[in-house]
Amino acid sequence: MMAKKESVLLHSCCAPCSINAISCLQADMDVTLYFFNPNITDRGEYEKRRDGVVKLAEIMKVAWWEGDYDSERFCGAVLTKAGMETLGEGGERCRNCYRYRLSETGRAAAAFDFFATTLTHSPHKDAAVINQIGREIAGLRSNETKKKLPQYLDSDWKKNDGIKRALAFAKEYNLYRQKYCGCEWSKSK
Ligand code: SF4
Repeated sequence: MMAKKESVLLHSCCAPCSINAISCLQADMDVTLYFFNPNITDRGEYEKRRDGVVKLAEIMKVAWWEGDYDSERFCGAVLTKAGMETLGEGGERCRNCYRYRLSETGRAAAAFDFFATTLTHSPHKDAAVINQIGREIAGLRSNETKKKLPQYLDSDWKKNDGIKRALAFAKEYNLYRQKYCGCEWSKSK
């Protein structure tokens, strides 16, 4: 009898950033994509990215799941100080944003062995910072519940020419590629 594969709930920010992550994980694990991105404050843009992820899930034959979309709540949670709207990408507002999306992914992953994120694919994001936040969330949740909970999987999907390969795949399958990070404050950056 074949051993059951371990399962991972993979937080997916968009289709292009998810390609390498799925390719790397699906040989050994059961992958479910989790589209939880209330940071995309423009609903039309949100729907284009979600539909891209659904299309990719069909192409790569993985399950997908959509989280709640409440961008007002997101803005309230990440703007913890005056003036944070003007910060560039990678600053304190972004760290709050990673934490918000990964906390929810950790909670949603209760029935999975692991959770992970595609955010580390972006060349504009520091994988070490994101991984540190993911590990903290996994640790906090274990302490809160005292149960065996999903572990966070470290990643850096852009390594080994990951961006080039993902771009070629996205072009081949005509997957939607966004022009800005997601929140309204990143539109003009
Ligand atoms: S720039 Fe991107 S990572 Fe930073 S807060 Fe906006 S959506 Fe989140």
